[in-house]
Parts: sequence; structure tokens; C-alpha cells
Amino acid sequence: MDFSRKLMVPPDKTIKLGKFDPADTLAHDNDQKTEAKLEKTIKRLDDLQYLLYAEKKRALLIVLQGMDAAGKDGTIRHVMSGVNPQGCSVTSFKVPNSEELAHDFLWRIHKVVPEKGMIGIFNRSHYEDVLVVRVHNLVPKEVWKARYDEINRFERNLEENDVKILKFFLHISREEQESRFRERLHDPCKKWKFSKADASERKHWDDYVSAYEAVLSRCGTEYAPWFIIPSDHKWFRNLAISRIIVETLEEFDMHFPKSPESS
Ligand code: AMP
Ligand code: MG
Repeated sequence: MDFSRKLMVPPDKTIKLGKFDPADTLAHDNDQKTEAKLEKTIKRLDDLQYLLYAEKKRALLIVLQGMDAAGKDGTIRHVMSGVNPQGCSVTSFKVPNSEELAHDFLWRIHKVVPEKGMIGIFNRSHYEDVLVVRVHNLVPKEVWKARYDEINRFERNLEENDVKILKFFLHISREEQESRFRERLHDPCKKWKFSKADASERKHWDDYVSAYEAVLSRCGTEYAPWFIIPSDHKWFRNLAISRIIVETLEEFDMHFPKSPESS
């Protein structure tokens, strides 16, 4: 099945998240067949990444966004588990430091865009500058409002320079977030992940939904598409994201370069 086509946000479409079921599985069951499919996909991803690395013609940039506990860390751990760390970089974007704040908001982002041959993963991204920044009024409205177009121009520039961008919105329900927070509080191995800020951010759920709808409606482009990934079921989230990455890499039609001596 073509996961990319099914889950991609059509450019210029106004998105209402209420219309997307976070528990959707596109008729898949959590059974052995699905598990085998995921395993096969992860193996295929490893082969394709090797080829991307060898060819060094393009980079792949994967952007992960979602509410707290949506599964950004878990996605990286599971989906990239088979990939050679040499060909992969992960960057987590936190509250900007003073040096970062002294520059334009894309400065810290552009610096860590993957080079050709590499897969770069962003755990949060430049989209925080129209999400948390918008929800908490961290800059005046006219400043964050201008950023949607700035982001589109930036991403187009990257695309024209052989960086393929895939953006995943990990869509979870409020109930699922609550149950994951509860798990974090009670599991000694997960407690470190829970911060008081998570609980207070939860109060802004509706504002975040509106901010995400604006992002998905305004920045879902043909050159840098957004995908809405139903993420209440972790196994489906992992399957969908890994399939979309594999489908994208397969479209590149990559070949191993000839050895330098033979050319
Ligand atoms: P975590 O992903 O749980 O480590 O948390 C990182 C925190 O940094 C989140 O609360 C983000 O909202 C915050 N953050 C990331 N980027 C920005 C930004 N550009 N401005 C303000 N806060 C940010
Ligand atoms: Mg957090």
C-alpha cells in the first residue's frame, strides 16, 4: 500500500485535525503479518541508506513534530534502529539559547541541515517558532505570522539544493497523551521524561491544535510535504513512517557510483 499518498497533506488544503482519527491503522492489525512487514521495511531502509551514502547526490531531512508524548523519541529509536549511525544525524531543538536568539530563527536550523549522502532527523524543528512561540506569544503576532512564508521559502531553497524534506506530524488524542503521561509518572524507567511543563502545556491543547492546523494548512507543499501520522498506536506510527521514508528513497532511483579508478 502507498502510505505516502494516503497520509500526505494535500498542498493548499485547509486542515481540521478533528477530521483525522489518531487511532486509525489503515485497516492494518497489530499481528505477525504487520510485524514482519515492519521488519522488512527497516531492513530495506538500511539498504537504501547505504546507497544514499554511497551516491552522495542528495540528503534526506526528516522533521518530527507532535504534542508532548506524541512519540518523537520512540520513532527515532524504532524507525532508525537498523540504520548505520555513520550516515545519520539527529538534532533535538530545545528552547533557544542567547546566541541562537540573537540570530534569525532559521540560523540554528540551517547549520545542521544534513549534507549530501546523509539522513538528518529533527526532533522538533523550525516549526516550534510558529507553535510554542505562537501559543505563548513569545514574539509579536506580525513576527510569527510572517514565518510561514519564510519557512516555505527556506524549504524550497533546500529542495532546490538536493535536500528532500519529509515532515511528520505525530497525531495523538488527548486521552492517549494523558495515559502516556500517567505511564511516565509511574514507570521508574520513564519518570525522567515527565516534566511539570508537560502538564501545564496540556492546558493549551486547543491552542496547539490551532497552531498545528495553521502549519499543516500553510506549509504542506509539494516540495516539502507534511504527513499526518495516526500515532495513538505506536506500532502503526512506526510502520507508517518507515514505509513513507522507504517509498521516498525508492523514488530516488539511486545507483552505486563506479569506483574512481574505472571512471
Ligand atoms: P523536549 O522536546 O521535551 O526536550 O522539550 C524541548 C522544549 O523546548 C519544548 O518545550 C519546546 O517547546 C521547546 N522549544 C523548542 N524550540 C523552541 C523555540 N524555538 N522557542 C521556544 N521553545 C522552544
Ligand atoms: Mg518533553
